Amino acid sequence: MSKVYDVFVVGGGINGSGVARDAAGRGYSVGLAEMNDLASGTSSWSTKLIHGGLRYLEHYEFRLVREALFEREVLLKMAPHIIRPMRFVLPHHKGLRPAWLLRLGLFIYDHLGGRKILPATTTLDLASDPAGRVLKKQFSKAFEYSDCIVNDARLVVLNAMDARDKGAEIFTRTKLISARKSRDGWALQLQSTETGTVRDVSAKLIVNAGGPWVDEILTAAAGENRAANVRLVQGSHIVVRRKFDHPKAYFFQNSDERIFFAIPYEQDYTLIGTTDRDFDGDPSDAKISEDEISYLCDGASQYFTDPVTRDDIVWTFSGVRPLYDDGASKAQEATRDYVLRADGNKDSRIINVFGGKLTTYRRLAEALMAKVEDAIGTRGAPWTKDSALPGGDFEVGDYDAVLSRISSAYPFLEATNRERLVRAYGLKCHEFLGEAKSYQDLGEHFGHGLTSSEVNYLMSEEWARTSADVLWRRSKLGIRFTQEQSERLEKYMREHKQLQNLAAE
Ligand code: FAD
Repeated sequence: MSKVYDVFVVGGGINGSGVARDAAGRGYSVGLAEMNDLASGTSSWSTKLIHGGLRYLEHYEFRLVREALFEREVLLKMAPHIIRPMRFVLPHHKGLRPAWLLRLGLFIYDHLGGRKILPATTTLDLASDPAGRVLKKQFSKAFEYSDCIVNDARLVVLNAMDARDKGAEIFTRTKLISARKSRDGWALQLQSTETGTVRDVSAKLIVNAGGPWVDEILTAAAGENRAANVRLVQGSHIVVRRKFDHPKAYFFQNSDERIFFAIPYEQDYTLIGTTDRDFDGDPSDAKISEDEISYLCDGASQYFTDPVTRDDIVWTFSGVRPLYDDGASKAQEATRDYVLRADGNKDSRIINVFGGKLTTYRRLAEALMAKVEDAIGTRGAPWTKDSALPGGDFEVGDYDAVLSRISSAYPFLEATNRERLVRAYGLKCHEFLGEAKSYQDLGEHFGHGLTSSEVNYLMSEEWARTSADVLWRRSKLGIRFTQEQSERLEKYMREHKQLQNLAAE
């Protein structure tokens, strides 16, 4: 007889991982299947903001903005290693939105959502402030406001790790291929996307957190409802060599009323994006178009004295937003709020997640748990609000102290690598740095501070299977690695996996 889970989650993006964590912590038995790597869908292609969404005020999305503003500080306290406060510089000038409108929006933004840690909005004289140095002279005034920045892919993995630590079973490279109603609720077929092996499990309830694939899961696997519920909207980013050397980000407006960001990224780079355009096709194939590249280069060059050209681009990425289809005419006007819909009957319920943002994933999980309780009964109470994610059990203000403790314990780590490790793992760094006194003690060195100790940890604790998992999701070292270095890492991981498999037999 196959195991009967209380809750089976399909999709290992932020919403699936967040739901699995919440449900496992309440005492439900939980399984999660992710067909590729965790965070390989939309959740690693975001702008990386934990934000209220200043722009959504223009679309009167007050519920969403208020909830998201409150969540900024909740999440910051839960994960002060992978989330950090950031100041955003919003230059204004006559041709764009009037200063009074921006000031009003920022006043609401400052006061709507229980801000305690993040500093309030100020005005900046760009003639004297360092943020003005790289901007064209016509921008003389700006507002400066607060939001946070997150390592999106790691937010997903840390939620999955905590779910596992609380008893959930996480199956990566495992696709849900069919779900049929049964005596227990649902009979599910899962297929390994590595070996093709199929296995059966049962669950009382399914959570469909398939992101852009949510409709596909509903129709192809569960055969529930053929209507199109999501509007797929592509957003692309370019990454260029660092355009400025201060720690603030920019919020730029375009003459077409769209907005985009230029954000300090991975120490040596600037992340510029995003775009918004309707998408048709397989979400895994989303790629930046020539038009999007021109749009972002031209837009940023309207502001920076030193123009952004195609030659500056070191990396691009695109993701597909699974927005709830509210019938909005323009892609950028479609709601960013989430909708949860329970289908099926009381004995075989499937709860579908449409839309949502990284910022609101924890609240989405709580709202979804209320529907789980309706269907299969209550277990524990809500618990995630004050609970640190793995490695993040220190105070927000203690980040520098943590960094300096790591520096004293491991003086051989260069400043950039030390910062990278603390930003990624927080207090969990010690688990693979151990008693090391030098790089030699950490095994093979693949480049840019990545050692076999770290890779082994990622493989045994964080479900990393390939070099892409390590270089593009558990870290962003892929931007720096050469082809040769990536191949060496891939070979190492393949051999290490074989050894692990042999040991498990
Ligand atoms: P996904 O991350 O796509 O996860 C769904 C998962 O389901 C995928 O990993 C997929 O492989 C898996 N799956 C699908 N079918 C199956 C199956 N049959 N079996 C098993 N697994 C399956 N939000 C913010 O808060 N801040 C931002 O700055 C921000 N910027 C954004 C910028 C862009 C360009 C985009 C596209 C989105 C942005 N968002 C932002 C929104 C946010 O990224 C998404 O709302 C969120 O990542 C969606 O997560 P998800 O878990 O629903 O979907």
